[in-house]
Amino acid sequence: MRRIKCPNCGTYNENVDYCTNCNTLINFKKRREIEFKKSEKKRAHNEQQDQENSLKWIEKYKNHRFLLVRVFAYIIYSIWAAVMAIGTFIAWLFTIIAA
Ligand SMILES: [Zn+2]
Repeated sequence: MRRIKCPNCGTYNENVDYCTNCNTLINFKKRREIEFKKSEKKRAHNEQQDQENSLKWIEKYKNHRFLLVRVFAYIIYSIWAAVMAIGTFIAWLFTIIAA
């Protein structure tokens, strides 16, 4: 027999997950599980959001109504892509030299 005091209304409940008086979830194990799932979901959502945001700003400027901004966005994007390519090339070069 488990007697659990409801944290919300103070009623003592026996062998139930929810308070018989106010329907608050009083099973602490279940409560932790639900909270864990909630925070896990939130974390995954935030990660996805971060990834989207890092690409979104360039997409936004690429579709900007001012041509100059669009050109500028393309230039920055090209430089970024070139830097990435050079970085990959240098990494590859080092692998060749080291070998
Ligand atoms: Zn209660």
